[in-house]
Amino acid sequence: RRISEKYDKVFYTGCLAPEIQAKEPRANAAFVVLARNKELDGVIQSIKSIERHFNRWFHYPYVFLNDGDFNSTFKEVVRNYTSAPVEFGKLDPSMWGYPDWVDKEVAREGIRKQGDAAIMYGGMESYHHMCRFYSGFFYKHPLLDKYKWYWRLEPEIKYFCDITYDPFVKMEQANKTYGFTIAVKELKETVPNIFRYASAYKRINNITSTGLWEMFTEKKKKGDKKEKLPKDDPKYKKPLPEEILNTEPGAGSLPDIHPDAMEGESYNMCHFWSNFEIARLDWFRSKEYNEFFDMMDHSGGFWMERWGDAPIHSLAAGALLSPSDIHYFRDFGYRHTTIQHCPANAPARQLPHIPYLEQTTVDEKKRIEEDEYWATPDRERENGVGCRCR
Ligand code: GDP
Ligand code: MN
Repeated sequence: RRISEKYDKVFYTGCLAPEIQAKEPRANAAFVVLARNKELDGVIQSIKSIERHFNRWFHYPYVFLNDGDFNSTFKEVVRNYTSAPVEFGKLDPSMWGYPDWVDKEVAREGIRKQGDAAIMYGGMESYHHMCRFYSGFFYKHPLLDKYKWYWRLEPEIKYFCDITYDPFVKMEQANKTYGFTIAVKELKETVPNIFRYASAYKRINNITSTGLWEMFTEKKKKGDKKEKLPKDDPKYKKPLPEEILNTEPGAGSLPDIHPDAMEGESYNMCHFWSNFEIARLDWFRSKEYNEFFDMMDHSGGFWMERWGDAPIHSLAAGALLSPSDIHYFRDFGYRHTTIQHCPANAPARQLPHIPYLEQTTVDEKKRIEEDEYWATPDRERENGVGCRCR
């Protein structure tokens, strides 16, 4: 499936002169990094990479957030790697951990079970907190109040092409809301019920699709025999969100919604990989997004399952945004862990594909070889939309 090029043109092909671009006015934006002291090395790697390929020209500020206190080494070392302004913030308990309406014992038991079932990060309490924070709270942090845009950074990421224009300004000019560079498929067992709730949100709020929702859905195949419920069956419109919101505080009950209530759709597991994101904060701060988050939250899915912030952001975008609000940064060379996006895989003269088709999994040796191969100017001119990839 594609986001049509008529909606989403690449901002630039090849290189501009960043020194000249940087003379233009800046957007109201910052990098946002959630991290722990022990991740300092990975954080430095990420700062070095983004400074080298972008921020040494553009000087956007950084906001570092942590559920604990950053120590003085962390702060000093980070400041040594950038000349841009840096702020450090601590999350108060309203943004991290269990809300008071949750029965912690039930939630912990749910998490323990996911650990036993060997669900990736499923048994790790802090990971659940992190996913919930990035789903419903980061944009409410007071240090972000003054900003309109953010660019998410994580430890141990790497940019490998120069970014020679200001992506915030370009997004603003093109009237974009959310930018991504990689989309992948979620592990099914981490989100067994997520789509039921997202779909219910859409139905309850009478949201008709703008076309983006389809990026995340699969229609039931013809051969699939599923019982059909008559439309007037009470199960069909099982009351939501009231039912969830009125549930006595447990860890959330994840009541079953009959599959028919999903209008024959299911989740295809596709999501924007949120460790890279450039987006408008006011979308996250909107009433609609927060109603979506609250409904998802009260289902208990952040504890009883291991819902990631990536499918949450993506399904919210699917329900609330249209293809023309989304920007695919196909010119950004970006890597995190074993997944990368290489602009040379995104030819300039063809329709852009949804990049989960282009995402590549590479081992360390291959990475280096590929880096060297694609770094030649000819390769970029012939094949890619990136700039000085190396
Ligand atoms: P992965 O990329 O899905 O493997 O998850 P990470 O471990 O990289 O976590 C995602 C982001 O959240 C990274 O920026 C981490 O530094 C941050 N993070 C994860 N867990 C915690 C935590 O318990 N405390 C803090 N302060 N940051 C965390
Ligand atoms: Mn990570």
